[in-house]
Amino acid sequence: MTHVHVLTFSPAKVNCGIIVGSDRTLLVDAGPGPAAAAHLLERAGRLGEEIAGEGGQDIDLVLTHDHWDHFFGAAEAVSSGVSTVHASSAFAADQEASAWIALDAISRGDEPSEYRRQLPTDPTEFVVDVSPVDASPGEAGTLDLGGCPVEFHVLGGHSTADLVVRLPELGIVFTGDLVEEADPPQAGADSSLSEWAASLRTLLSFAEANVFVPGHGVPVDRDFVTRQLADLEGMRSDQGDSEVALPGRVMPGDHDRAVPREVRLV
Ligand SMILES: [Zn+2]
Repeated sequence: MTHVHVLTFSPAKVNCGIIVGSDRTLLVDAGPGPAAAAHLLERAGRLGEEIAGEGGQDIDLVLTHDHWDHFFGAAEAVSSGVSTVHASSAFAADQEASAWIALDAISRGDEPSEYRRQLPTDPTEFVVDVSPVDASPGEAGTLDLGGCPVEFHVLGGHSTADLVVRLPELGIVFTGDLVEEADPPQAGADSSLSEWAASLRTLLSFAEANVFVPGHGVPVDRDFVTRQLADLEGMRSDQGDSEVALPGRVMPGDHDRAVPREVRLV
């Protein structure tokens, strides 16, 4: 028995995943801060108990990249019992600097005060011990949750530290912000459109994949990823690798877009 749930948190409407196999649980991203992380841990604990009984399962965390909305909950997750944090080695190297920059921006930005009050003032408190995914190029790191193999692919383009989580037996990929639905994909100073396009081609090379869980927005299909690749390639020939405004695209159909929300995929 396997569970795959997607939970969406404010601020930033960021998606996180809970994947529960017969032996272990994996969280995909830790959310924007301590409150989101505490909620994720609570839900992961309950889902793990459904499968493993009282006492639940060991819980790992994987981080898709070093942007605040995805990893500012990581320290809380670790202090609440997450045993191992997987991330790219670029994440491990960059997380402290990224925390400094993001915390400074948040302190001057317009995120809600109830959110800002949760955050420590010392950016080093966001830093977590990471088990780097050191697969050689073209290979994947692997983790078996028990009846649910997981692959970690280190890619790039949205940030310098992108990692995607592939569930090859379920046809599901958690893409981090390499794919974004509804709001425009965010291409900042740490983006590289050429690498980003190559990463989307890699996602489309996963022949079994038919559900892509973006960093923001509702899950999308192969056609959506193909269209975002075309958007990126169009920008790249027009503007080169610079900060650009990509178009926002919406997945057709009716979708629950409430925030916060929890959706079960499997
Ligand atoms: Zn994001």
